[in-house]
Amino acid sequence: MRIPVEKNKEYVINIDTITNEGNGVGRIEGFTVFVPQTAPGDEVRVLIVKVNTRFAYGKVLEILKPSASRIEPKCPVADKCGGCTLMHIDYKEQLKIKENIINDAMKRIGGFDEYEYEETIGMENPYEYRNKLIFPVDVDKQGKCICGFYASRSHRVVEVKRCFLGNRVHERIIKAVLDYIDKYKVSVYNEKEHKGLFRRIFIRQGFKSGETMVVLSVNGNKLPKIEELADSIVNAEKSVKSIILNVNTKQTNLVLGDKNIIVYGQERINDTLCEAQYSISAHSFFQVNPVQTEKLYKKAVELAEIKKDDVVMDIYCGIGTISLLCAKYAKEVIGVEIVQQAIQDAKENALINNIKNARFFAESAENIVPELVNEGARPNVVILDPPRKGSDEKTLSAIVKAGPDRVVYVSCNPATLARDARFLCDRGYKLIKVVGVDQFPHTTHVECCVLMCRVR
Ligand code: SAH
Repeated sequence: MRIPVEKNKEYVINIDTITNEGNGVGRIEGFTVFVPQTAPGDEVRVLIVKVNTRFAYGKVLEILKPSASRIEPKCPVADKCGGCTLMHIDYKEQLKIKENIINDAMKRIGGFDEYEYEETIGMENPYEYRNKLIFPVDVDKQGKCICGFYASRSHRVVEVKRCFLGNRVHERIIKAVLDYIDKYKVSVYNEKEHKGLFRRIFIRQGFKSGETMVVLSVNGNKLPKIEELADSIVNAEKSVKSIILNVNTKQTNLVLGDKNIIVYGQERINDTLCEAQYSISAHSFFQVNPVQTEKLYKKAVELAEIKKDDVVMDIYCGIGTISLLCAKYAKEVIGVEIVQQAIQDAKENALINNIKNARFFAESAENIVPELVNEGARPNVVILDPPRKGSDEKTLSAIVKAGPDRVVYVSCNPATLARDARFLCDRGYKLIKVVGVDQFPHTTHVECCVLMCRVR
């Protein structure tokens, strides 16, 4: 095929859609050009920066005609920080973009065209929704200590004074920590050289409990004048109930090392999700948008239509959030999850909430689900919430063998969802309904849940 664009040349292009990576897509003589920081409906003049055999990348030089959905992003560094790739697009349009991404995957990858799409569940206020933020600490060109987030596809820190996905609690804590680093000239970690002490500030809040945890991740096992730092954090932000020093001395991308030292207050904070209590440690997995998580889980349980005689299997159950919610309506719940610590949390959470009809297995789904089914487990309802790579044929075949009436698949990746749904729908299931739930406004992350019913 002839390639109608050349590198380093300028073109005018109309943007039609947005990809799941957040790039605008336009065409020049039918040839695909990806342009970051654009909106569907934009007419832009671009400089072609990269050309491939099948597509090219362009950089916006000028917006000739802005899309009707373009807005001024609240955050002044939205175009530099790698976090919010859609913040320049009106929220309603963002929801439409996500709906398109889901339906496109269901159609193209799954080959589905007959199902009900229930309107994407968005947020009333799509800002300040994150209960957890992790700020890497760095120094700028003048040698001043800064913190913020990584630029897109890099580990360069873009200074963020106020993150609009976080809230004022973060700002106050960060200021206290940066003032301390400056005052005592604490060295800042340099990833390439694996030198320097201070790595990241990790802040987690219980939105319902009002309790905050601060984790200071350092390349060492102590910080100078740490009591003074703890005092200034607590003075700056009264909701802080826990300050932890996390020892992270390995040359790794992992946010936290294994060892935690309590500097102030308690080891865990509490929070409530879907009316259940959770006790959360620094290492625990906990959903980051609690408002939307509640809506997502309630939708999953609603689609599952759980009745009091039902046995529910919750595969990829994490700390048991969906399991505990189902346990209130079902006869029995079986939770499966590969991470041992998460299963320990799930069992503890069941105890805290006085739930006695949930059993948990710390094993891989592909091993334990076929084993349980071979031993005779026959859940009426299966809920699965796998990681981005989706489920696998061993697990899915075992589900088919168990033959539940309803399968509810919660997914953070429409592509693998479409693939797995096709597997089930070729083996006796029918795709009934798809619902998008926006867990991450202003980013291109897409979450949805679907209902499949057994038809033979
Ligand atoms: N339903 C939970 C967690 C969903 S995230 C919640 O909403 O909180 C996906 C989970 O799948 C993670 O907890 C991850 O540890 C787990 N997981 C990943 N691969 C797995 C596998 N092969 N078998 C079982 N669990 C797995």
